[in-house]
Amino acid sequence: MAMDSRLVEELANQLRRKRLSLLEGVAGSQRAARALIEERGSEIEENAQKHRIAGLVSCLNDRDQKMIEEIDVTLKRIDEGTYGQCASCEDEIGSERIRALPTATLCIDCATAREKRQRSISVNRSSEWLITIDSEHYDRS
Ligand SMILES: [Zn+2]
Repeated sequence: MAMDSRLVEELANQLRRKRLSLLEGVAGSQRAARALIEERGSEIEENAQKHRIAGLVSCLNDRDQKMIEEIDVTLKRIDEGTYGQCASCEDEIGSERIRALPTATLCIDCATAREKRQRSISVNRSSEWLITIDSEHYDRS
């Protein structure tokens, strides 16, 4: 069953606004960092320090950029008409979950299962585990 088109439209608009403000934020902090480096260019003789500032900014931006990517994927899914459908089991994600987490690509069951699996990977790093997970992954695709 397709998602409520009004809800999809509303969420799409929300995501587009969010994307725009994230992009502005990323560009803004890059400008600020550049200005800081230029302004203090004579003071900051050491390249290491310039790198540290640049690194700090890119670290902050990484999170935002990842969020922008998630939004892009979601907007693409809206365009393709697959929005609201679980990327793994193709069940409906459910409007409640979508409303709470508009960029969700998995239904709650698949998301929980994946989380559990990821936790097992970090707890149990034996190669046997990784092989099991790998073959599972290939079966599905
Ligand atoms: Zn699912």
